[in-house]
Amino acid sequence: MPNPTKDEIFAALATVNDPDRNKDVVALDMVQGLVIRDGHVLFSLEVEPSRGPALEPLRKACEDAVYKLPGVLSVTAVLTAHSGEAPQEPQRTQQRPQQAPPGGAPAQQSIPGVKSIIAVASGKGGVGKSTVAINLAIALAQTGLKVGLLDADIYGPSVPRMMGIAEKPASTPDKKLIPHEKYGIKTMSIGYMVDEDTAMIWRGPMVQSALMQMMTDVVWGELDVLVVDMPPGTGDAQLTMAQKVPLSGSVIVSTPQEVALADVRRGIAMFEKTRVPVFGIVENMAYFVSPGSGEKTFIFGEGGARRTAEALDTPFLGEIPIYPAIREGLDEGKPVTATRPDSEEAAPFAELAAKVAARLAAGNGERKPPKIVIE
Ligand code: ADP
Repeated sequence: MPNPTKDEIFAALATVNDPDRNKDVVALDMVQGLVIRDGHVLFSLEVEPSRGPALEPLRKACEDAVYKLPGVLSVTAVLTAHSGEAPQEPQRTQQRPQQAPPGGAPAQQSIPGVKSIIAVASGKGGVGKSTVAINLAIALAQTGLKVGLLDADIYGPSVPRMMGIAEKPASTPDKKLIPHEKYGIKTMSIGYMVDEDTAMIWRGPMVQSALMQMMTDVVWGELDVLVVDMPPGTGDAQLTMAQKVPLSGSVIVSTPQEVALADVRRGIAMFEKTRVPVFGIVENMAYFVSPGSGEKTFIFGEGGARRTAEALDTPFLGEIPIYPAIREGLDEGKPVTATRPDSEEAAPFAELAAKVAARLAAGNGERKPPKIVIE
């Protein structure tokens, strides 16, 4: 069976309308990075980060439209953030970043029983931050550590969906929340309490108090490490976390494109300002592995994050390829690290977890007193 052509694929996608804008995804120039290999088709849909979760039906409709073409064996569509978008911009107008009180830093909340806290951050949405946070947390637990995962991505909490948890958490008589336990980790997300759409309209102060509550009003118990899935960007919510919580370190997720790397630089600068050690940069969606031949295709360019890491004198923590199984697992609430820990797809997360665990064990994650200089 011959490969479907690019024209056929675009013609199929032109039948799919973005319901909010009443035009098709091709006319709206949303389809990027089309790869056709031995009947396997991959492309990304560029969307505004704020619309991400609501566009899942659109992503699925695009896959279905292409799947109907003769010669197509598999279709993978991923939602990526629109290039020029600055997801945190609206909140800046709502509230200024917190100023340090004269002569000192804001008081830091430690969490009883939690030995270290690491942030998984990204300069923008859609780069796979939650994907990395969840799979890293599970892979860390598989090294024998006691692990918690806090979904602080308050604008689009994806942990409930990706972990397959829909129930509200139970609480103790003194109104502390009990985290859910699944796949060997404890998790808490604002998405357990409110739905994704409600969470997305939250602004400044509400977000910050919700975040602090999820850190401190949850019965985490004894944890070696709490992995925090940060909100995307370098706005107020991130600054509050970096300032108020004793972070041991941060892992920054980026895709290889130039625009994503500019965001990484801002992310590193933010953590450095607050003296949180940057453990390093992970390059997600580094390349596509053709399920037929195993051939690699660098759809977003090659080695961008590694070069940025070198230029910024920051460790490079490795590459995570695009594997359909990574997305499919998360769509079904079954992360690949949990269901197939020995698979090729889980391997990059195991390597990342080994590096993070080594860094924590070496005590490099000790946080220096913060030097707060935030204008
Ligand atoms: P973010 O948290 O940065 O907004 P997500 O983790 O929600 O991004 O990822 C965006 C989409 O891309 C999700 O559908 C996710 O399953 C998919 N995705 C992320 N990383 C990969 C990967 N390495 N391979 C395949 N799909 C991926």
